[in-house]
Amino acid sequence: MAATSETTSHSHSTFYIVGAIVLAVVLAIVGPALFGESFRPAVDVLEVGGEVFLRMLQMVVVPLVMASVMSGILGLGDVRKLGRPGAYAVTYYLCTTVLAVITGLIVVNLVDPGEGIDPALVKDARQEGEQTLAHVAGQNRGRRIEWHNVTGDRSATAGESKNVAVPDEGVWSVRISIDQVGKATTAARAVAKWSEDGNTFEELAGGEFSAGTDPGIYTTSPVITVPVEARFVRIEFEPQQGGERSIVEAYLVAGAPSIGAIFRNLVLMLFTNNLLGSMVEINLLPLIVFSIAFGAMLTTLGDRSETITDLVVSINDALMNFILLLMKLAPFGIFCLVAARFANAQLDGQFLTLLQTQAWYMTSVIVGLSIHAVLTLSLLLWFFTGRSPAQYALQMSQAILTAFSTASSTATLPVTMECAEKNAGVSPRSTEFVLPLGATINMDGTALYEAAAAIFIAQAYALIDPAFVLTFDKQVVIAITATLAAIGAAGIPEAGLVTMLIVLNAVGLPLELIGLILPIDWLLDRFRTAVNAYGDSVGAAIVDKSF
Ligand code: ASP
Repeated sequence: MAATSETTSHSHSTFYIVGAIVLAVVLAIVGPALFGESFRPAVDVLEVGGEVFLRMLQMVVVPLVMASVMSGILGLGDVRKLGRPGAYAVTYYLCTTVLAVITGLIVVNLVDPGEGIDPALVKDARQEGEQTLAHVAGQNRGRRIEWHNVTGDRSATAGESKNVAVPDEGVWSVRISIDQVGKATTAARAVAKWSEDGNTFEELAGGEFSAGTDPGIYTTSPVITVPVEARFVRIEFEPQQGGERSIVEAYLVAGAPSIGAIFRNLVLMLFTNNLLGSMVEINLLPLIVFSIAFGAMLTTLGDRSETITDLVVSINDALMNFILLLMKLAPFGIFCLVAARFANAQLDGQFLTLLQTQAWYMTSVIVGLSIHAVLTLSLLLWFFTGRSPAQYALQMSQAILTAFSTASSTATLPVTMECAEKNAGVSPRSTEFVLPLGATINMDGTALYEAAAAIFIAQAYALIDPAFVLTFDKQVVIAITATLAAIGAAGIPEAGLVTMLIVLNAVGLPLELIGLILPIDWLLDRFRTAVNAYGDSVGAAIVDKSF
């Protein structure tokens, strides 16, 4: 009887949330259409409502993760019992991430969304990406060496050169881009050189680059790698001849990190030198490591840890009840979040236009995500647990919809835990470890998206630079880096866009082509976050079997 009323109550909540999302999207389309810019104040109010809900979710994440991991260890009584399920969880996460990447690659290669795209759109997107990149990529953008308006007639500019210092840390490379305005008789040329002492310069391997004589933007592909011992690079430039203009730009960019360097970062991400700092940044991985260690220590103290053990367990129970309350507010919070975001996009003129221009790319990503969620994850769930995938998805529906609305798997974590325990009956032993770990390292949707987006960008880039060929080995590199980039991505909105730069860098694609996927990312982010949260919960159900 109790089970039936619980099922009915979570079906009701799901119904309200779906209703809220549909209403929000309708309002976001109709509102700006009817009222234009005067609809903005209403959007501002909705934005505040959404932000309040989001902050309330985020507010409980850190105490919840720490209390639940500790209380999980205390429940087991011995940290060694975590060994086998822990190994299963990590194996499950890795395997499903790889399966997601493979699905993404297959779908995007079949649909070929980049092939039909207008080359003018690619060039525009590239410029847009250029502007936003400094913001998105932060440190990655590197130094810039630039010449402007260099004409063939001004002989003074011929043979001009500029030096730039190479930072001590990391691997660096040079990208040269020459914009030929009008037709030239002799093409502009640039040579990249390097030096250890700033006096004697040597040409970099592959450092000589010639633009064409026809108007257009010519870019080095792949980028030119700078040796680690280099302290300076210099670009020497020969302008075009023929009375027209060419603009050369050269960038010193952070080179593709080696697979070893990516692993190194992943290992370091597990540990923090400042526990409070990690709490402030909602950086969950080191908090999980600390909580496991602290919980393990408590189990060795016997009676002396009784008070603190009771405290941890009570905090955990209180937080779970608080989340129940938050879930009652979910339809309102989700309505505000979705309506505000979609209405903003509509007011900026993006929404319906984007749906039209980027339709094939969006279709590839959404079809890939659906195949992964509906086929791969369902089959795994059914095979390992015998549960009905449709019923499990319904039980987890509030978490999936919250993930869609917040675009953050970390903010969704409390709801995912509550649904897995209360609706789906997954034991707390499993949810308390597997879900916090999953929310930080298991991102199937993000991995699939990164692989698909990188191939889409490569296909589009090949249209404006025929020298770029998307070979099979480049696809393998994309698969490996997309997997690692997804593991390293944070569970926050559009984190995948930042780690995407690692993937583009690894195959020598111009980073500014991120402009192609930037405008639509906020929307696709919601779909991939929903798959991320669902993937975590399927993992919790499967690992539950091993306890
Ligand atoms: N927003 C995603 C998440 O929170 C990460 C991403 O793919 O951008 O899971």
